[in-house]
Amino acid sequence: MQASLNKLNKIFQLEAQRQYDNRAVMGGIEKMLRGWEAEARADDVNEQLINAVTSQLRNYEDLEPEYRAIAINNVWQRIQREVGDPNRKAGSPKNKTQPERTKLIRIKERPVAQRPKEAAPKPAARKAKPPKHPRVEGAPMGLDAPTTVLNGVGTVNAKRLEKLGVYTLGDMLYHFPRRYDDFSQLTPIAGLMYGNEVTIIGTIRSVANRPVKANRSIVEVLVDDGSGALRVTWFNQPWMARNLKAGEEIVLAGRVDQFQGRLTMSNPEWELPDKEQLHTNRIVPVYPLSADVGQRWLRGMMKRVVAYWAPRLPDPLPPALLSATGVMPLADALQQAHFPDSNEKLQAARQRLAFDELLLLQLAVLIQKKAWQGQKATRFEAPRAWLDQQIARLPFALTAAQVTALADLLRDLNSGRPMNRLLQGDVGSGKTVVAAICMAAVARQSAQAALMAPTSILAEQHYTTLQKLLVGAHGLRAEELRLIVGSTPESEKQEIRQDLHEGKIKVVVGTHTLIEDPILFAELEMVVIDEQHRFGVGQRAALRAKGTNPHLLVMTATPIPRSLALTLYGDLDLSVIGELPPGRREVSTQLMLPNERQRAYDLIRREVDAGRQAFIIYPLIEESETGQALSAVEEEKRLKKTVFAGLKLKLLHGRMPSDEKEKAMAAFRDSKAQVLVSTTVIEVGVDIPNASVMLIEGADHFGLAQLHQLRGRVGRGANQSYCILIPSGENASENERLKALLETSDGFMLAEKDLQQRGPGQFLGGQQAGFLDFRLASLSDGRLIDKARRHAEELLAADPTLANAEHRALAAALKQYLRDGKGDLS
Ligand code: ADP
Ligand code: MG
Repeated sequence: MQASLNKLNKIFQLEAQRQYDNRAVMGGIEKMLRGWEAEARADDVNEQLINAVTSQLRNYEDLEPEYRAIAINNVWQRIQREVGDPNRKAGSPKNKTQPERTKLIRIKERPVAQRPKEAAPKPAARKAKPPKHPRVEGAPMGLDAPTTVLNGVGTVNAKRLEKLGVYTLGDMLYHFPRRYDDFSQLTPIAGLMYGNEVTIIGTIRSVANRPVKANRSIVEVLVDDGSGALRVTWFNQPWMARNLKAGEEIVLAGRVDQFQGRLTMSNPEWELPDKEQLHTNRIVPVYPLSADVGQRWLRGMMKRVVAYWAPRLPDPLPPALLSATGVMPLADALQQAHFPDSNEKLQAARQRLAFDELLLLQLAVLIQKKAWQGQKATRFEAPRAWLDQQIARLPFALTAAQVTALADLLRDLNSGRPMNRLLQGDVGSGKTVVAAICMAAVARQSAQAALMAPTSILAEQHYTTLQKLLVGAHGLRAEELRLIVGSTPESEKQEIRQDLHEGKIKVVVGTHTLIEDPILFAELEMVVIDEQHRFGVGQRAALRAKGTNPHLLVMTATPIPRSLALTLYGDLDLSVIGELPPGRREVSTQLMLPNERQRAYDLIRREVDAGRQAFIIYPLIEESETGQALSAVEEEKRLKKTVFAGLKLKLLHGRMPSDEKEKAMAAFRDSKAQVLVSTTVIEVGVDIPNASVMLIEGADHFGLAQLHQLRGRVGRGANQSYCILIPSGENASENERLKALLETSDGFMLAEKDLQQRGPGQFLGGQQAGFLDFRLASLSDGRLIDKARRHAEELLAADPTLANAEHRALAAALKQYLRDGKGDLS
């Protein structure tokens, strides 16, 4: 295959890894194609193929990521058809060398449990997507009309719009621009500067259509506005020559470019000056597109719909709230969000619409919380003497933070209402023991408690811990505490089922098996979920459903900034263990450049010689052709043969079958290997006190919060531990970002930074971000979240069921919101 096509392949792969963010190459795919055309021609790639590539990817920037994926796949298939595929197995752009981290971050993914009607989130399955716009009671029925009522939209165009999730006129109102081009600066040609985004108005002096090669053409137009003249070109749009005539006025908008030392514009937006200006001379909306829907066409349709319907939409916010919040009225906000008069108005409009989203979410979670609080639950007491006994049995003294959290939990247990609490604490802060005492209190009254962990190795670890903490004098009998995981022999499972059903087992620890297995409990009164972000809503609900209103405790080591906690877990009470047990030494953290790697290896050697163990983490499972980062599989092979010859290494990554993963982990835990070479699958709370080095390769590929979690795998024993970060390059700003880890070991602070730097989608890693499918709101906007929370609380305090007349529209909007399956977070 020609070099130019190979290059495309690599870029496509990288783009796929990056979830089609159009940043695989500097300046984006479209820009890259300009240079690529020449390379391809020099490579003798046939002209039709070049044309196919450039035309299919011409709108790449404007496409939503899932359509970008389609476009790239189409192009790649086309290339394969044409030239055959010498490396078919490895060659498809969507091949296996994706970093594990991004595997989760599917675009627009939503947990299936949330939307039972919707099939898997493939583009082809989007048909079932419910309308975009929140239907407001009293809203004109016209908004539910299909897009075909618009002049110029027939069944074909309607189908194309459906691909964007736009079915009705109301959906159009809520189909917001992806970005805006500020062409509001009308500039004389003499004043143009390279790189400016401008609008010019001038007279066409000449129009020339130059066919370049087969299928290709350049339309060249000279425009003069009295101050000067500018040459403007359109590539491969021969019809432009028919649209434009010398002597006519024209409005042009775009970026000022440079060609052979002269200023120019290529493919600018244009229109005639006698019409209302939509594409030029204003802040121009740029909409997300699907294939076959053109920007100009859509903009025109949007203009008509917005102008007519926005003023006719009732505002769900009651007047009192409008004036208390000072947000822009809905009609203005919709108009300004699509066709802003100024940047200030645009910001205000987006704030208003974001506020709506956050307010609805907060109303939903607060009402949810109320509903839970309205339910009854069995009371569990922890009499002083008993509690003292339990605490005295522990091999250590509880930290003050543990005591406070425990007090919260015990209060919940004895409240007569079901506990609904998130226990948050940095890795190693000691959440398990707090949960254990609560489970003991439940068992003490002969009821049952279940602890669910995401992997069997973690479940085993918890089981061992609980055995130490709970079994013995003043505690449980050994047979009252059991472990059930996937690999538990069927005969033993049988027995456990039986004993759970008869109530002989008081505390059970397990994995998903707890919910997948037809287990029945005699009296399940408390459910504890560890590393809750590893479970879907459905799984948590399934375990909870095995009891009647059991107390629910979810635990997480992911430090969640307050704004996020309020949105993600707004329906849960929050306890935080904000300190580590005493005597822990801070992990010594260092940033090394790739050429200093040998120092890291030396350190690992030294530690291993002293009897300790090391983790080495890579961002990729296997080598990618783009060679962007090192990978676990190749590096394990290399290290075993070279640097660490003679040591025992184990390999662990996400594509191994789960029993093999567990085996590798167990071997490392049992000190049968000294070095664990892994991807981020080891992230979850495994406790291996003997491990003292965490080496993270390609550290720039990870978020701060994730790096902090990885670092938390070491420093759990008495020895000094080390965390070494090696970025894959010498990118200064990236390495600056990583320095935050050297400066603090405060997980919350790092999480806050991470959220600001990378946004919530990256921060949460897929699954959870999917819940919060905001159109305009951002989880990093803590102030707006707080504001929404405050007003939601006030509204509900005054009118708990939103029954008052002035809240009718809001109540209806909320009802619709809940019907769409949103707002059910835990
Ligand atoms: P995490 O919050 O990450 O789940 P664990 O519950 O696994 O943390 O506890 C980490 C380690 O710290 C365990 O080995 C546990 O026994 C120990 N530990 C917990 N609380 C204390 C304490 N107050 N003092 C000393 N060690 C503690
Ligand atoms: Mg834990």
